[in-house]
Amino acid sequence: MKKFFGYLRKNLLVIAISFSLGGFVGYKVLESLGIAFLINSIPIPEGSIADKDAFIEILPAGKPLVQKELIPVEKKAKNIILLISDGMSLSQVSSYRLLKGGPNERIAVDKFPVSGIVLTHSEDAIVTDSASSATAFSTGKKTNNGALGLDKDKNILENFTEIINKYGFVSSLISTSEITHATPAAYASHIDLRWKTDEISVQMMDSDVSTILGGGRHFFLPEEMGGKRSDGLNLLEQVESSHTVLKHKNELESFDFSNRGKVVGLFADEALRDAEKPENHASEPSSSEMLNFAINRSKVFNQNGCKGFFVMVEGSQVDWAGHSNDLNYLRREMQDFDEAVKMAFDFALDDQNTLVVVTADHETGGLLIEPASPTNYTSPEVKFSFNTGIGYGSHTGVPVPVYAYGPGSENFTGTLDNTDIFYAMVAALDLSKESGSCLEE
Ligand SMILES: [Zn+2]
Repeated sequence: MKKFFGYLRKNLLVIAISFSLGGFVGYKVLESLGIAFLINSIPIPEGSIADKDAFIEILPAGKPLVQKELIPVEKKAKNIILLISDGMSLSQVSSYRLLKGGPNERIAVDKFPVSGIVLTHSEDAIVTDSASSATAFSTGKKTNNGALGLDKDKNILENFTEIINKYGFVSSLISTSEITHATPAAYASHIDLRWKTDEISVQMMDSDVSTILGGGRHFFLPEEMGGKRSDGLNLLEQVESSHTVLKHKNELESFDFSNRGKVVGLFADEALRDAEKPENHASEPSSSEMLNFAINRSKVFNQNGCKGFFVMVEGSQVDWAGHSNDLNYLRREMQDFDEAVKMAFDFALDDQNTLVVVTADHETGGLLIEPASPTNYTSPEVKFSFNTGIGYGSHTGVPVPVYAYGPGSENFTGTLDNTDIFYAMVAALDLSKESGSCLEE
């Protein structure tokens, strides 16, 4: 900036003359010429992103969190589909929309009648991680970064699937990463550190969640067998006696829905549809293919005595695209997520008894949308840039959007804390009478 003011001083005479002359020969013409001259002459310093203007501040001490007052929900929802795009804020939504079809394109979330703003901080950090944020969604309580289903003092917090199971609702968890990833794990485990995947996988298999779909075979196999378990347990073998294990996406189509036992889909060693391994994609399902399966299966549960269903879908790799500062990756993952959102919305539109909530745990990458040249706003060239670090983005503390449709959606508007998402979902269901689990033992 110093450089700029120095420049301005040197050229003051030229600028003064051009503006005063303007008064004589057409103020408007010279005004625009003057501005163009100024803009085109602004020295743009060369430097790296590490040199950008930055301010480190110490924030005021925290105030106690107050839960948002809810509107009583008159017509309750029978079912809830919650879609969480990991690492998605408005810049990811906007970038995908622009890349897909330009500024007037509309994507699935744009059709939702209700939207709001979600604040994302965790118990111990302004910038949350996925575990703490997922725990806020799944339990309504803040916790420290890294913790799943436990509060900051490591007390167990009852999660959403455990609560609604007692009232006769059936739950499904879907993820495009390994199923032991923080977001699905927060709905089916309680552990102080999200990296303890040996424990998380066991707890998830013991949970009352009927359908769990994603990747992560390696987290079910011991290291001796090429897996990632350090406890030596062959959980995959063990799970084959308690669950129907799906390994290929064709099995989603050929599945016999009269089978109402627990199902786990482990379609990849780790995350689904790794861009480096395109040969695997034929056997690994998309988010919407897994959601379609979970909805169809849940409908059968409803026909057989369940009171309703809950499906959580995580678009896990939007976050990874932000971490790796990869726009093409982001586009691919946002497209996959968008298709699942569309499927959920269309189902709810037809069903009229289903609440659909779309949100995110935090933003990743500090994604910006700028004109390619700061002196040319009207050029068709648009610059997308990640600003948290070159090649290794981190999470940011900006709020994320929430979109809602269906019974109970009225509570997903205005500004919400991420814990309020849990309470608004609870308020949407009829939880007046415990009926016990509707799952077959
Ligand atoms: Zn996350």
